[in-house]
Amino acid sequence: MAAKQKAIMTDVTIVGGGPAGCTMAALLGAGGVTAVCIDQDDPSRTMGHDFDGRTTAISYGSRRIIDAAGAWNSLKAQACPIKDIKITESGSPVLLEFLRGDTDAEAFGWIVENRLLRKSLYERIASLKNIQHIAPSKVTGFEQGKDIVKTFLGDGLEIHSKLVIGADGRNSFTRTQMGIATRGWDYNQRALVCVIGHEKPHNNTAVEDFRGAGPFAILPMMDDDKGGHRSALVWTEHGKEDASALYWDEDVFNAALNERFPTSYGAVKATGKRFCYPLGLIHAQSYTAPRMALVADAAHGIHPIAGQGLNIGLRDIAVLSELLIEAKSSGQDLGGDDILMAYVSRRRADNMAMAGATDILNKLFSNDSKSLRALRIAGLKMVQKIGPARRFFMKQAMGEGGQIPTLRGQKK
Ligand SMILES: Cc1cc2nc3c(=O)[nH]c(=O)nc-3n(C[C@H](O)[C@H](O)[C@H](O)COP(=O)(O)OP(=O)(O)OC[C@H]3O[C@@H](n4cnc5c(N)ncnc54)[C@H](O)[C@@H]3O)c2cc1C
Repeated sequence: MAAKQKAIMTDVTIVGGGPAGCTMAALLGAGGVTAVCIDQDDPSRTMGHDFDGRTTAISYGSRRIIDAAGAWNSLKAQACPIKDIKITESGSPVLLEFLRGDTDAEAFGWIVENRLLRKSLYERIASLKNIQHIAPSKVTGFEQGKDIVKTFLGDGLEIHSKLVIGADGRNSFTRTQMGIATRGWDYNQRALVCVIGHEKPHNNTAVEDFRGAGPFAILPMMDDDKGGHRSALVWTEHGKEDASALYWDEDVFNAALNERFPTSYGAVKATGKRFCYPLGLIHAQSYTAPRMALVADAAHGIHPIAGQGLNIGLRDIAVLSELLIEAKSSGQDLGGDDILMAYVSRRRADNMAMAGATDILNKLFSNDSKSLRALRIAGLKMVQKIGPARRFFMKQAMGEGGQIPTLRGQKK
């Protein structure tokens, strides 16, 4: 009979090694906390072009967190700065714009490919001696004890820790095992994403064109290896899935893109695979259970209309990692109730506010109603004219509008 494998002992177990889980691991590692981060997906696949297809708009606040995690330096050459933002309505002339001269900051944010964000984080956690990255391997269960939680992996491995962090995405297995219910709804919308090659440069401009089905967003990416100009497309659709542009022939799809893109891009063409994500709102009724906590999409999944899902998730991670690093250095129990309560009290209101704001934005901006259309055109024109309103929206887009964690304790 084969000998039973010895359990791994660590301070924290992180279930899910997506952008959230890996950032958590890197921050904890930099702050002297030991952690094991487990992901069911094979890293060689998640870093490929065919896995996720998404890009993420990283705000200023998030860049600071990724930098504190030690992953920004290797990512920054691939992160495309957004210098202008133009908002239109069904292909109208620009109704609202934020231009490079409107702020002293070097950019409004950065567009990064999810696969490259993962790559930088994998490299960073591989360099931290107190972090173990186990992937691919699936977490299959937990056993909560008084002083530790046992985490069981499909391959028979067992991990014992003071705290388990569920960073396992919208359909979180950890959340289900914790018995935590969720509130939310489907938007009956999908986001089709893919990379678009275009003839002329984008000049670091992000375009958000609000259409009846939802936003058609064009986000600037760095040029490819051969100098080809690229942008990421997020095309919101509603209605029957089998009518989705995901299934259109290449020629039909490219013709539709050329109709919808501003002429300043020249001829445009999809490069590579198209991906489709169903859209919905989901919020966990609680973020914690004894010796367990949920972060990022496992706690709250929101509409991508404002590109804020991961940005608020990273704020959870910054707050929780800071609490855990402080607890470790003062010899406190890392899974103690006071830490979990402090985490919830510092994060829930900000997350709920963002979930509410994106829900309202989507109701207002993804709508064919003539009266709502007139209202949003008038609203966008009004914001364009009123300085304080423009500054408010600019701050939100840059991720400086919510609660920004202080990030004490992380040493790079
Ligand atoms: C179209 C679209 C565009 C978006 N654009 C933006 C944007 O511009 N800006 C922004 O901030 N956000 C954006 N978001 C949101 C962002 O993509 C998510 O918030 C982010 O991916 C959440 O990361 P995560 O690590 O929490 O979850 P995930 O990325 O879902 O990762 C969870 C990981 O856990 C693993 N896992 C699950 N169960 C187990 C298990 N039992 N055992 C082991 N591993 C497990 C999964 O395999 C996965 O790797 C967008 C979302 C969509 C759909």
